Amino acid sequence: MNNPTSTTGAETVGVKLRIPYALPLIEDREIKEVIDTLQSNWLSRGPKTLEFERKFAASVNSPHAIGLNSCTAGLHLALLAYGVGPGDEVITTPYTFIATVNTIIHCGGTPVFVDIDPITMNINADLLEQAVTSRTKAIIPVHFAGLPCEMDKIQQIAERYQLKIIEDAAHAVHTEYKGRKIGSIGDVTCFSFYATKNLTTGEGGMVTSKDEEIADRIRVLSLHGMDKNAWNRYSEKGSWYYEVQEPGFKYNMTDMQAALGLVQLGKLAYMQELRELYAAMYNSAFSRNEALILPADSSEHRHAWHLYVIRLKEELLNISRAEMIEQLQEAGIGTSVHFIPVPHHPYYRRLGFAMEDYPETKRAYEAAISLPLYPGMAVEEVNYVIFHVTRLLAAHRR
Ligand SMILES: *Cc1c(COP(=O)(O)O)cnc(C)c1O
Repeated sequence: MNNPTSTTGAETVGVKLRIPYALPLIEDREIKEVIDTLQSNWLSRGPKTLEFERKFAASVNSPHAIGLNSCTAGLHLALLAYGVGPGDEVITTPYTFIATVNTIIHCGGTPVFVDIDPITMNINADLLEQAVTSRTKAIIPVHFAGLPCEMDKIQQIAERYQLKIIEDAAHAVHTEYKGRKIGSIGDVTCFSFYATKNLTTGEGGMVTSKDEEIADRIRVLSLHGMDKNAWNRYSEKGSWYYEVQEPGFKYNMTDMQAALGLVQLGKLAYMQELRELYAAMYNSAFSRNEALILPADSSEHRHAWHLYVIRLKEELLNISRAEMIEQLQEAGIGTSVHFIPVPHHPYYRRLGFAMEDYPETKRAYEAAISLPLYPGMAVEEVNYVIFHVTRLLAAHRR
């Protein structure tokens, strides 16, 4: 583990570092827990998964949590559990990872996109109501980069039109909205523990819900639709007995994943402090740079800082976004672009969606670069990124 030490950044001149855009923070504790699990002989869903579900639920103030093999599985099962099917519309943002929308398609539903707010890059809650029709069943807000969506406005509209709120909280494992934990607000909240996410189990996901019936349904659907409670409730049969009421999926979490997750959950607050520190370093270094739009923050909420997305003001620069990414790569700095918007992808274009219909999404996408941000970074590495971004912008000012 790198220890943050203070540096001025001046010593980074002339030194070449290699900084990937994201890295998990896996230490001896995680490795030991996974080995213990392997030696326990219980590899699949078992006691560790149950413990992780219990502790994760408590950490987000939700009564129920179900460990899954991905956030994508969670989104899919949440939509199915609420009966989303052919003819039903689900409103979401076009500025998200493809999983958010593919799962609507998997259910036979129709995605309806509402453009983003150009400041927060989240779904524009003020445009939401005009997208509601008699076929709308649910809204999937995505807390982009870890900044919460405007949940008060979204909840008002959901109540007015009897819609379900299924949150895509893949970036929002530590996010709070007005003091409320993400995971305790919507009908179902789906978290991702993919390798680059703030809390990782390699691959993995978790859904939380206040609704016991829906939580049970998601749990059953995640294991082939096999209902073990059937014998508890209705029969005298033994522990070998189960019933299948509908064809479910194989989406469960394993105890090897949960072993990783338990250690990661225990150090989440500490990992978040480092993310916050590094985001604050970027903010103060870039705040007076006129060629940049910085990520939004809010004192009202807690930002999980999953991503640090800068946007280039190309009208002030004679370097394109693509060239900037290339130049940073040459300096050893890995970056990414979040996201290639859903309507940009050929499959969705063939369904009739077009980028031109979402002008704020298009503009944000064309300008966005995600800089490295993760707890395993050293302060020197953050300063190195700041140095090179600042250098390139200064060299290419119009
Ligand atoms: C990573 C991500 C997902 C998918 O998570 P998996 O756990 O890989 O299925 C969904 N939505 C968003 C916004 C993501 O960034």
